[in-house]
Parts: sequence; C-alpha cells; structure tokens
Amino acid sequence: MGEFELIRHYFAGAPCARAGGAVALGIGDDCALLAPTPGQQLAVSTDTLVAGGHFPHGADPFLLGQRTLAVAASDLAAMGAEPLGFTLALTLPDTDPHWLQGFSEGLNHMAEHCRLRLIGGDTTRGTLTLTVTVFGSVPAGQALTRAGAQVGDLLCVGGVLGQAAGALPLVLGQREAPAAIAEPLLAHYWSPSPQFALGLALRGRATAALDISDGLLADCGHIAAASGCALQVERSALPLSNALLALLGDDAARTAALSGGDDYVLAFTLPAEHLPYIVGQGLAVHVVGRVVAGSGVSVLDANGRDITPAIRGYQHFRESP
Ligand code: ADP
Ligand code: MG
Repeated sequence: MGEFELIRHYFAGAPCARAGGAVALGIGDDCALLAPTPGQQLAVSTDTLVAGGHFPHGADPFLLGQRTLAVAASDLAAMGAEPLGFTLALTLPDTDPHWLQGFSEGLNHMAEHCRLRLIGGDTTRGTLTLTVTVFGSVPAGQALTRAGAQVGDLLCVGGVLGQAAGALPLVLGQREAPAAIAEPLLAHYWSPSPQFALGLALRGRATAALDISDGLLADCGHIAAASGCALQVERSALPLSNALLALLGDDAARTAALSGGDDYVLAFTLPAEHLPYIVGQGLAVHVVGRVVAGSGVSVLDANGRDITPAIRGYQHFRESP
C-alpha cells in the first residue's frame, strides 16, 4: 500500500476527518483551513510519543490511538479551550494493515469523544513515532495559564491521582494483578479522559491551571514558578482510587500520586469562593493544598510537618540524581 492510499484508507476516510464546524477545509490540500469564531484565540499544542520510550513496542494499536490523542487533547482542556481539530504526523516502520486499522479506530474513537476533527498530517517511514498537534479556541484573554495563582487560593485536582503510575508496571508486564485492580488502572492509562467540561467551568474562576503529565509535584512546580508563589500539598488529602490502594498500599499509593506522571487530570488554583460552583456542576474536585507566599512546592503531613520528597518527576535529558 502506497502513502496516499494509506492516508485515504485509514485517516482521510475516518469519520473524524469530515470537514464542518470551524474546519473550512480538511485533509487533502496543502493546508487545512480553520475558521475560529471572531474574538477567539487559537490554542495550539503538540505532543510526540516514541515507541520504546513513551509506550512499549508491541502495544495494542487501538489503545495507542486513543492514548496518543487523549494526551494531546488534555492540553486544550487545561487551557479552558474548546476542541477544534488536530493533525497527525505518523512515522511507521512498515505498513501493517492490522496495526493501521486498530490505530485509526482508536484515534477515531477518542476524536469523537473529544469532538476533535482530524484536519491533516504527514506520513513517513522510520521508528514508530506519533505526533499530534491539537487546535482549540478560547475567548481572547480567558485562557487558563500557569501564571496567576494568588496567595490564599486552594490547590485542587480534578480526579484521583497516581492511576497511570500504578498501571505502568502492569503495562510493561513487570507485575500482575487481579482484574478488579488491574482493569481500572489500565483503563486510565490507555484512555485518559481530557477534562474539557472542568476546563470550561474553571474559565474566569481558576487563577492558574495545567494538566498533570509529569506528576503532581513537578507540575505544581510550574504553577509556583510562573505565578511567583509557593504551593503546599497535603499528603493526607491526595485523592486515591481503591484499585491503587489495593495494588500499592497507602504509603506507596501516595508517593505515586505525588510523583507519578501521565495522569492527565487538571491541577488548578481556585479562590475558595468559587469551589461551590464547580462542585455544583457535578464535576469532581479535590482540594489537596493551598497557595502561600514564597517559592517552590512542599508536601505537608497531617500535622503540618514538611515531608517534601527529593524526587519530583520525569524529565527527558536530565541526568540521574
Ligand atoms: P504535502 O506533500 O503537501 O505536505 P502530503 O502528501 O504529505 O502533503 O499529504 C497529503 C494530504 O494528506 C495533506 O492534506 C496532509 O495533511 C494529509 N495527511 C498526510 N498524512 C496524514 C495522516 N497520517 N493523517 C491525516 N492526514 C494526513
Ligand atoms: Mg507532507
């Protein structure tokens, strides 16, 4: 199968690739054309996943398709943006029809879930590498950035933490667990659900926000630095699932929630007066700490003692400590 037939069969022909809405022109020309509503800003973000680094060689293609788009779409949700479209740059070692079919179905499934349209891409040969660029729109000046946290704000997260860190040894085949424990963790790892509804509800209310990709502590460090304040996390307040607690026990589950990456849950700072509105919308919100004067991120135990761990999160290119 040649490049163009491959694109047509698996991608341009997918339901998520139809034009419409803000997509004035989709796949097939030199560029796609987007027509955002006047007064809106375009939100753009790119994520790359490399086989052997971000996911194991031989990973299920349907699950990989879902996850590749979800991790990129999560950045739009974190900015309070509404979904428009995405491009897919696909580098493939070969053209395996089984793989392409599964991948395009998983991608399409997540695209429909997120209401994102596939508007273009590029197809090349090489080590399996998946790059998605997402486009969204947000009313000018209303995007949720990392800067803006104010002393006195609550630090909140939009769901349970540590799920993906708990799932990772199961994904890598380093550990096994009964289905009742493994399934919810693996579901979260392979199919994170970008928190678009929460991002929209936080517009005009949260003072800073991001999605947790590198771990709560590492990502809160970005809010603290951008906002010029300090964040305190209460270890006893971290929301944990029963599956994670059953797999790891309380202590290791809390460590996973603090330092494990790949959760794609929103973390945000919120003036306390806005908490009832968010809860009233039926959105999951957990208060895990607060914004104080100073710099950096610290972890407190139930007695208010500083128990900040040394290891923060994953960074490419960083030498081991
Ligand atoms: P060009 O050579 O002008 O960059 P290509 O030949 O690479 O265009 O691609 C042809 C059309 O197919 C373009 O509209 C491009 O956006 C789209 N496309 C290429 N690869 C993919 C893909 N993996 N998924 C979706 N669209 C793709
Ligand atoms: Mg090209």
